[in-house]
Amino acid sequence: MSRIPVMIPWLGEAEAEAVAETVRSGWVAQGPRVAAFEAAFAARVQAPAAVAVSNCTTALHLALVMAGIGPGDEVIVPSLSFIATANVVCHQQAVPVFADVDPVTQNLTPATIEAVLSPSTCAVIAVHQGGTPLDLDPLRAFCAERDLVLIEDAACAVGSTYRGRPIGADARYAAFSFHPRKLLTTGEGGMLVTDDRALADRGRRLREHGMNLSAAARHGSNTVTLESYTEVGFNYRMTDLQAALGLVQLGRLEAMIARRRELAARYQQALSELPGLITATDPEYGTSNYQSFWVLLPDSFPIGRDALLQVLLDNDISARRGIMAAHCEPAYAGHSHTSLPVTERLTARSLILPLYHQLSTADQDRVIDVLRREARGVSLSGAGTGSMTGSSTGSMTRG
Ligand SMILES: *Cc1c(COP(=O)(O)O)cnc(C)c1O
Repeated sequence: MSRIPVMIPWLGEAEAEAVAETVRSGWVAQGPRVAAFEAAFAARVQAPAAVAVSNCTTALHLALVMAGIGPGDEVIVPSLSFIATANVVCHQQAVPVFADVDPVTQNLTPATIEAVLSPSTCAVIAVHQGGTPLDLDPLRAFCAERDLVLIEDAACAVGSTYRGRPIGADARYAAFSFHPRKLLTTGEGGMLVTDDRALADRGRRLREHGMNLSAAARHGSNTVTLESYTEVGFNYRMTDLQAALGLVQLGRLEAMIARRRELAARYQQALSELPGLITATDPEYGTSNYQSFWVLLPDSFPIGRDALLQVLLDNDISARRGIMAAHCEPAYAGHSHTSLPVTERLTARSLILPLYHQLSTADQDRVIDVLRREARGVSLSGAGTGSMTGSSTGSMTRG
């Protein structure tokens, strides 16, 4: 039996060939392939413009810079996210303010944001966590009414939909990741999508040291053109090697999502018989790409989350703890925050199961069998006491 990983990218010969061809072309840094990848990505998510950058963290940072967020400004973020969501706020000397999340979607809502709103609040970074779409209409209305900048952390959400439209469509700022842990990969890479072309132009300058003229534009010109540096920028460029990879990967997206949704449905079906266990699911207003398939253990589950991870590993299955909570990490020790009961429960009691394009149903059944076996411990330990029928669905508010 071989180890089942939690995630592996889906890469083929076409990607290898595209990268080799880029090497042969002699143009490996940001150039024509980056421009083509931006156009193809923007078209796929139905957005007017996309700016390719070095990763999603730099895309989020660029969004904060472009939105004018600076020292002392408060930016509301979920603690329940990969730590980069909070870190980028610190990079602007602004203050991340942790908000709790909805127990079902694991996402921010107007209610959880309102609970931590202050006169210093300037922006919200809302995460489409694990690919589960945010409920965008109420969120956008809430932020517009209060003049708050809304930045969507769509690191995990390429191809997820909201009311029939792809995530990224209609966003002022939406940041995507191409880390191999996400659906599409370019090794490292990110994309900042916006509905404002002028903003995208500024983003392209800022990612390239604030230069008014890209290297590609200068090379393409027949007259001597001297660049100037319009503001203090960054080096957040993507390479053409990465973009070549991204263009091929983008062509696989539909198949990837279809397969992931099929596997997610199999998990949901099989695990629905385990008392009290809750799984990732589509919200009524949209569809998930199931970048992360999480399950939340009920209080009645016979063994703890970490013990279950160990049992899975003993059975040659790599799973992961659920989404991390930034406020529980040493990096944010001493950072004041409101009580975050849902976040703390989700991060302590959930785990992420293997889900990737190449996962066979036989291997998926191995994962399901381990969960079934461990869940049966409930009936064994509870035999004759009637505790099975009393098994709770897991009070979401209990820490
Ligand atoms: C992965 C991830 C990031 C960071 O993406 P990188 O491309 O690695 O910088 C940010 N936010 C969330 C929610 C993520 O899952």
